[in-house]
Amino acid sequence: MKPIRTTVAAALAASVLVGLGAAAPAAAQQRFITIGTGGVTGVYYAAGGAICRLVNKDRAKHGIRCSVESTGGSVFNINTIKAGELDFGVAQSDWQYHAANGTSAFAKDGKHADLRAVFSLHPEPFTVLARKEANIARFEDFKGKRFNVGNPGSGTRASMEELLNAMGWKLSDFALASELKADEHGPALCDNKIDGFFYGVGHPSANIQDPITTCGARLVPLQGAAVDKLVAGAPFYAKVNIPGGLYAGHAKPTPTYGVLATFVTSAKVPDAVVYELTKAVFENFDEFKKLHPAFGALDPKEMVKNGISAPMHPGAVRYYKEKGWM
Ligand code: GLU
Repeated sequence: MKPIRTTVAAALAASVLVGLGAAAPAAAQQRFITIGTGGVTGVYYAAGGAICRLVNKDRAKHGIRCSVESTGGSVFNINTIKAGELDFGVAQSDWQYHAANGTSAFAKDGKHADLRAVFSLHPEPFTVLARKEANIARFEDFKGKRFNVGNPGSGTRASMEELLNAMGWKLSDFALASELKADEHGPALCDNKIDGFFYGVGHPSANIQDPITTCGARLVPLQGAAVDKLVAGAPFYAKVNIPGGLYAGHAKPTPTYGVLATFVTSAKVPDAVVYELTKAVFENFDEFKKLHPAFGALDPKEMVKNGISAPMHPGAVRYYKEKGWM
C-alpha cells in the first residue's frame, strides 16, 4: 500500500506548494484496474460496474481508475487473473474453491497459489429455464431435447458438467447440447432454437426476466438424488429457492441448489489497490446495494466469510480489521 499513498501524499504536497487546489494525481501516478465479469445481461456485469463506479468516485484521492470487461464468466476470469491480464474478477464460489485447491476443472493446472479472495456477493441459484411448449416439469425431462449447457469458460458450464456427472449423463443425452453465451440463451429459447438452458445467476436478473415476459418461459426445479449428493459432498453448494414473486407467473419459490458469487484478485495486486477498492465498496454500501436488486440483501459481515476458500487478500484484511469484522 505504501507506494500509492506516498505518491498521492507527495502529489498533494506538491500541489499545495505551487498553490493549486486539489489537483488530480499526475498521470504517472494513476493506476488502471480492470474487473472481469460475465455477459452484459447477467449480474456480474452489474456488480463490476457498481464496484468501479464507487472506486472511481474517489479517483482524485487514490489515483485508481477502474473499468469493467464483459467476459465468458467465472473460469475465464480466474484463469485471466492468473495470467496477469485482469486485476479482479467475479467468480462462483465453487470455482474459487476448485482453483484454490487445484481440483475438478483446475486439476490439470494445479493450485492457483496466487488467487486471493476479497469478499463474496449475491447468491447464485442454478437456474433452469424451459420453453413453455417443451412440456418440462423436471430437469430429467430434457433428455433427448435441445439444451444450452453454457459457453466454455463460464462457471455455469463448469457447474453444469458437475451436475451431469453426478446424474451419470453425458452431453450426448441431449439431442443438442449448445454452448451459447448467457447473453444469447434467452433469445435462442424464445426463437425455438433450444428447449431450455442452465445458468448460475443472481435474482432478479434481466437475463431470466426477458424470456419469461417475451415468450412465457418457465423456471424448472432442480432436485433429486444427484443434487442431494452434490450438496452433501461439497462445502460450496447449498439448497436454495429462487424466491417466489420475482418473475411473472412464478408466485411460488422454485427449489434448486446454488453457490455464491465472489470477488477475487491476485496476490500480485498491491495491498493499497485492494484496500482502496474494498473501502470504496463498504464505505458506500447503501449506494452499492441499490445498484442492483440482487445486492439488496447483502450483509458485510457475511460477505467477509461466506463462500471464501482462497486466502483473503491482505489489502482487504486491513480494511476488515479496521472495521472489526475480522
Ligand atoms: N455465474 C455465471 C458464470 O460464472 C455468471 C453470472 C453473471 O454474469 O451474473 O458463468
